Parts: sequence; C-alpha cells; structure tokens
Amino acid sequence: MHVSQNWIDIAYLIAAVLFVVGIKGLTKPKTAVRGNLLAAAGMGVAAVVTLLNEHIVTYEIIIAGVVVGGLIGAIMAKKVQMTSMPQMIALLNGFGGGASFAVASAEFFRGSADNTVSIIATGAAVLIGAVTLTGSLVAFAKLQELIDGKPMGFPGMKVVNAILFVGSLVGIGYLVVNPGNETVFWGLVAAAMLLGLLLVLPIGGADMPVVIALLNSYSGVAASAAGFVMGNSALIITGSLVGASGLILTSIMCKAMNRSLTNVLFGVMAEAGEAMDEDEVYAGKVKSTSAEEVAMLLETAQRVVIVPGFGLAMAQAQHAVRDMADTMEAMGIEVEYAIHPVAGRMPGHMNVLLAEAEVPYEQLKDMDQINPTFEQTDVAIVLGANDVTNPMAREDKGSPIYGMPILNVDKAKTVVVVKRSLSSGFAGLPNPLFAKDNTLMLFGDGKGAVLDITTALKEG
Ligand code: NDP
Repeated sequence: MHVSQNWIDIAYLIAAVLFVVGIKGLTKPKTAVRGNLLAAAGMGVAAVVTLLNEHIVTYEIIIAGVVVGGLIGAIMAKKVQMTSMPQMIALLNGFGGGASFAVASAEFFRGSADNTVSIIATGAAVLIGAVTLTGSLVAFAKLQELIDGKPMGFPGMKVVNAILFVGSLVGIGYLVVNPGNETVFWGLVAAAMLLGLLLVLPIGGADMPVVIALLNSYSGVAASAAGFVMGNSALIITGSLVGASGLILTSIMCKAMNRSLTNVLFGVMAEAGEAMDEDEVYAGKVKSTSAEEVAMLLETAQRVVIVPGFGLAMAQAQHAVRDMADTMEAMGIEVEYAIHPVAGRMPGHMNVLLAEAEVPYEQLKDMDQINPTFEQTDVAIVLGANDVTNPMAREDKGSPIYGMPILNVDKAKTVVVVKRSLSSGFAGLPNPLFAKDNTLMLFGDGKGAVLDITTALKEG
C-alpha cells in the first residue's frame, strides 16, 4: 500500500508534535512517563508512515534490519549495568551518527544530491555523522577501558585537526561545483572519520560524559542534515530537537562541574590535585564509627538528609536505602535526599536510581533547595558520594575542582560518610570532609552498611 506524500507529511507533523509534547512532559517527574509514551508513539507513527513511502524498493532488508537490530538492542539493554550506561549511550550516539552518514552516502551514490542545498546537506550529514561515529567509538573505548582513559595526543594535533576540518569544508565546496566526484567524496569521509578520532583522543576519561552529551548533540545535527538530504521533515525536526537538547545538557554539565566547554574540549584540567597530600588531609583526624553507633545517633535526630553518590549505584543499595528511610520515618524522623546535578556518572543518575526503589519524588531535593537546610540537619548520611561533597571546591583556590558547586553537608550537626575506604572519587582528590570534627566514617560496602544501620534501628 502506498500513501500520498500529503498524508505522509501530515503524519510526520503529528509525530513532530508528539515529540515536542513528549519532551515537555519529561521536564517533570509526574508527567515523565506520559511524556515518554507520547514521544514513543510519535516515533511509532513516523516509523510506520516511512514504511508506506512509495520509494521503498524492498521490505525484506528492512525487516531483516529491524529483527537483527532489535534483537541486539534488546540484549544489550537487558545486560547493561547501570554503571556502564554512559558507554552504552556513547555507542548508541555513534550509531546514530553512523546511520545519518550512511543515509547521506547512499543518497550521494544514488545521485540525488544534485543541487547546491542537497549537496551541502549531504556533505554536512557525512562530515558530522562520521565525526560522531568515530568520536563516539573512542569515547566508548575509553569508558569501557579498552584503551587508556588518559588524554592522548601529539604535538601539532590541533593544527592537523584544523587542516582536516577546513579540508572537509573545501571538499564539500568542491562537490557543490563538481557534483558526484567520488574521489573527493571518499576524501571527505576519510578526513571526517580521522577528525572524530583526533577530537576525542586528547580528552581525558573524566570529561567523557560531557563529550558524550556533545556527541549526542552532533548526532542530532547529522540526522537533521540527513533529513534535508531526503526531504524528510520528521527527521529534520527530531534531529534539531536532539541537537538542541544535547547542547543544553552539555552546558548544564559543564556548569555543574565548573568547567568551560573549551577547557573540556581542549583537555585543560588543573593539575593541582596531584600535589595534594592525602596524609596531610587525613592523618590522625579521621574517626570511624559502627552501624550501631550511627543508629543511636539517628534515634535522637529530628531531621536526616541522605546524600547519594556514585557509590550508591555501585553498591546497588537503593532498595536498602529506601527501607532505612522508611524505618526512620516510622520513628518520626524527617528524611530528605540531597541530589547534586552530577552525582553519579550521568545527569539524573541518582534520580533514576532512587526512582527504581520508589523513593517518593517530593523527598528528592536539588542542590539549591537543600543547601540552606543543612544547618538545621541533625545527621547527613553521605552514601557513596565524594566529590560532590568536597569542601575544597568551596575553600581551596588551588584545587582543580575549586568553584564547582557542592552539597554543603559539612554544615550539618553530624555527618556520617559511608564508603569502603578513604580512596578518592572521580576527580582523584582527597576530601577534607572525612577529617572534619563533625564527621564519622562508616567504612564498608554501601548496601551492607545501610542494611546494618536499619537492623540496628529496628532492634534499638
Ligand atoms: P565520586 O566518584 O566522587 O565518589 C564515589 C565514591 O563511592 C568513591 O569515593 C568510592 O569510595 C565510593 N564507593 C564505590 N563503590 C562503593 C560501594 N560499593 N559502597 C560504598 N561506597 C562505594 O562520586 P560522586 O557521586 O560524589 O561524584 C560524581 C563525580 O563524577 C564528580 O566528580 C562528577 O564531576 C563526576 N561526573 C559526573 C557526571 C554526571 O553527569 N553525573 C558526568 C561526569 C563526571 P570507596 O572506594 O572508598 O568505597
């Protein structure tokens, strides 16, 4: 069955509206599930309508692609650990860029890029798509530790990158004047692929999540360009949405880590942290405690704030935490959660984790809301968080994280820090919080420690 282009366009418009309304829904936890379903419905409409397009030559290959791709995707989604999510997203972004690159290449070889606009769109989709593909593969390899996470480079790398970029633009310009020149096209492909590799290799593993958000934005722009190549309005709109939202996310992450995008992209990271002496920070000042002691402390508390971090995800302690919070609430204690925008390893990590344990959303407070309340907090329980509570960000001008907004947990009357050792977090820095007078360290695995506290609370 073939449907006229008018109906297809109307259906694409409906899909686009569903995407926009869906994204709007995602901005609030209450409407997020509905938003997600609406956007998925939009994608369903767009996919079905595309299959009715009269230009489709064969359905067999499409069905084979859907079956094989769907199967691989489903297995990957089932198997991936929450802690490996960033590299999974990197890979998927890369495939998104790769798909736009493939589509634009196919259109080029079909000879449909025959006017200035479509040639420029094809060139842009190839350039951005290929950069996204190889750049994302490097990001994936760094996060999966298949290659060294350290910045890699060589003298003159930026000049080479500039030459590759300008060369690609010249190549696209040449194709506008001489459409269909295959040698130049392949040159463009090679330059773009190399550029993707060279852009991401010099960026350290620590900055990879920001780079992934940026690559996500690129994959959107590439899709949008591919939409122009094929005259597909749904693809243009969704691509633009992804492009814009990826950029917004990148900027939110940069702000929350107090890094500028240029110093993320050019791998500038203050080195002062390496000079910090852990012994100087901790020696003789760290007090450890036991689950029973913490339970006793909690019994007399009126207000407790739980501060989750990456260690909570590692320990998979979210259900145990919910149980501990329920126990405290049953004792009449007010419990809230302090959510730092970059706690964990991806934006929203803690929200997702706590939502899995059905922690009531009203109890999750973001940094600006919770910070003024720490002074009225009897006990702050820091659960596998480290960098996001590090007072050096506030006080130590020489520190690499100076200026990064943090949760002011040290202002609480007592701070209990649950982690396995004194080892550093993601930024590789010692944390003077652990040595403060009002801090007690409960050493152990996050889940075990929380279960022990809950048992002690119930027994006490
Ligand atoms: P950190 O990475 O600073 O610290 C996590 C702590 O968890 C470690 O010190 C570790 O200590 C502890 N831990 C690990 N496993 C366990 C376990 N099983 N039980 C108990 N504790 C455990 O985490 P934060 O969440 O505080 O900070 C996030 C960091 O990631 C920031 O530096 C942020 O900039 C960065 N980042 C975040 C992004 C995001 O979007 N969320 C993106 C990019 C970077 P020990 O080994 O002693 O147990």
